[in-house]
Amino acid sequence: MSKEWKFQTKAVQAGYEPKPGEPRILPIYESTTFYYDSVDYVARLFDLKEEGHMYSRISNPTLEAFEKKIAALEGGVGALATSSGQAATMVSLVNVANAGEHIVAASTLYGGTYTLLSVTFKKLGIEVSFVHPDAEEDEIKAAFRPDTKALFAETIGNPGLNVLDFEKFSRIAHDMGVPLIIDNSFATPYLCRPFEHGADIVMHSTTKYIDGQARSVGGVVVDSGKFPWDNGKFPSFTEPDPAYHGIRYVESFGNAAYITKARVQFMRDIGLTMSPFTAFLLHMSLETLSLRMEKHSQNALALARYLKNNEKVAWVNYPGLEDSPYYDLAQKYLPLGCGGMLTFGLKGGLKEGKKFMENLKLASLVVHLGDTRTSVLHPASMTHRQLTEEEQRSAGVTPDLIRVSVGIEDIDDIINDFDQAINKAV
Ligand SMILES: *Cc1c(COP(=O)(O)O)cnc(C)c1O
Repeated sequence: MSKEWKFQTKAVQAGYEPKPGEPRILPIYESTTFYYDSVDYVARLFDLKEEGHMYSRISNPTLEAFEKKIAALEGGVGALATSSGQAATMVSLVNVANAGEHIVAASTLYGGTYTLLSVTFKKLGIEVSFVHPDAEEDEIKAAFRPDTKALFAETIGNPGLNVLDFEKFSRIAHDMGVPLIIDNSFATPYLCRPFEHGADIVMHSTTKYIDGQARSVGGVVVDSGKFPWDNGKFPSFTEPDPAYHGIRYVESFGNAAYITKARVQFMRDIGLTMSPFTAFLLHMSLETLSLRMEKHSQNALALARYLKNNEKVAWVNYPGLEDSPYYDLAQKYLPLGCGGMLTFGLKGGLKEGKKFMENLKLASLVVHLGDTRTSVLHPASMTHRQLTEEEQRSAGVTPDLIRVSVGIEDIDDIINDFDQAINKAV
């Protein structure tokens, strides 16, 4: 791969480079194990002194191709594929925070992430303080403690669709000596590359736009290679690791310390591994990521404008609309488009919203987003159901909120479908 290549060329060409006579298309290496003819070579592999595969829980050639491509697209030094987006969030944070330590996170998160951080992390002994991402810098800094190890947020919050002020967040994280870790699932590296705006680690639920066709659950963590892990706050990166016969990650792996530690410590011990078949699909899906994201963004903007002009609609939220409070941040950080997610409420509210969703013909009611098909979801009774009403409001979920994942069908058909369903509901 040439480093000079532009995004779309990398999306097609990066990750897999066959040698003469090998398959042109990335093979699915459905093999747990690898063949060797030298004991010493295997010993060097286990010492991490030789690059190669030991066992598919830790690495596999099909996963490696996908990891290299997504790292190239995000502009990172390495990536680690995981079994789900939840696993990616878990690995990205547990790689830096131990039991007894603390994380600061934006309150406007995907429901599953919010529960992982507020309930499950607490059981593991990691405490998380939530701050509204639009709060003043001093207020966010006040949530930090001496043992805080990371600042976590989403590029586009789910489902509030608030766009993150990366400049503010990266300044806060770096003033406090911790990495900024970003969930970039809604934007994808085509619309936003957080490393260009000061983020240190990016993770994705690949289940969404990276897969793009709602086939496989998966996740990935990408390392920018830029965070100074030897700043004194992260002894697990500089002191010998007893789980890996005394290896020191920064000393041995330099700017790939974070992603190597995530792989040889957490992936090896916990085994949140992606399947080779999923990695094969994702590697192929990335070829069309930019085409899909362009179309998702165009369709979502057109649908948002239609809803805005419909007198039966109470409100519409899409960061690409000029009157959105996030319009300026969207212009700055999402200049190619704001993605396919929008939210709105009908006049009347909850009852009308339910009737609308049940009358859609083209769009379907599913617990998913980011695929080619237009779909709708009611967060208050679905993804954010486990949260209290106060937690729901703080995450941007009102009872009447309908979340739309705008697909890549013909926009006329999408608008006609919404129009007939709205007219039956209100
Ligand atoms: C879906 C989602 C997740 C969780 O990913 P899974 O692949 O479902 O485990 C995390 N973050 C965001 C923004 C999501 O939309």
